[in-house]
Parts: sequence; structure tokens; C-alpha cells
Amino acid sequence: MKLTGSLRPFAPQSQPELIQTSLKDGATVWEAIQLLGIPRERVKLILVNHAGALSDQPLKNGDRVSLFPIEYPVFTDWEGSILSKGHSDEMIREGEMKKWKCSVCGYIYDPSKGDPENGVKPGTAFEEIPEDWVCPKCGAGKDMFEPE
Ligand code: FE
Repeated sequence: MKLTGSLRPFAPQSQPELIQTSLKDGATVWEAIQLLGIPRERVKLILVNHAGALSDQPLKNGDRVSLFPIEYPVFTDWEGSILSKGHSDEMIREGEMKKWKCSVCGYIYDPSKGDPENGVKPGTAFEEIPEDWVCPKCGAGKDMFEPE
């Protein structure tokens, strides 16, 4: 399980990056959230194996869960499912995903296009690209990118 942004302080000190939980098969995401003591309203978006999920989704061994906090920028997951925003039912549109620009060469990462030649599917938010991804034009690392 991975925590981002303001949820990171909830991670146990021994496992700050990737938390291994030992829930039984069929336990839900919500049970995992409770185990970490995270208040429900702080969690805005849940991804299970990189697809949007609800808190009552049952988990099985090996599932990867990412939790995003309430202040996280909105985006849809790459399978195109529509996620609701906070406790309101306002829908998130794909057009709201941010573009990011390579500060070295000026290449612009457009989430609606992704970078399919390098394994990044269209609809992937910049934040969801693997950390070892590099600028397809100049090879600069992800940390050289800034929001456009
Ligand atoms: Fe570049």
C-alpha cells in the first residue's frame, strides 16, 4: 500500500514508502485504511492495481493499493472510469488532468496521449507514471518536469 501527500505521515515509520499489510484475503480497502488509522474523509481516491476502486473493494494477496489525499489534483484513471470528487458527486473530466513540461528540452507530457512507445498508456496522469520513466526526447528524469 502506498500513501501520498498529506497521508504519508500515517505510514508506519518502519515502512515509510511501501507498506506491507497482512490482511486476510477478502478484506476490504476500507479495513486496510482503518488499520493505518486514517480518517475516511482524508482519502479522496483509491487505486487498486492502478485502477480506480471503491473502499469496499475486497483485496487479495499481492494487490497494490494507492491512497491519495483530499488535496490531490483530480484525474481519471487510465481505464477511463469516472471517479467522484470528495464527498460531493461532482464528476471529474479527463480534460482536467495537468500537462507537465520537461524543463530541459521543453517536451510536454500530455496525459490524454500518454507515452505509449515507452509503456505509458493514454489517460495516465503524470503522477502515476513509473518513477524510472524519462523524457522521451532528451532522457531527463521525472523530477525535471514541472506542471504546465
Ligand atoms: Fe526533455
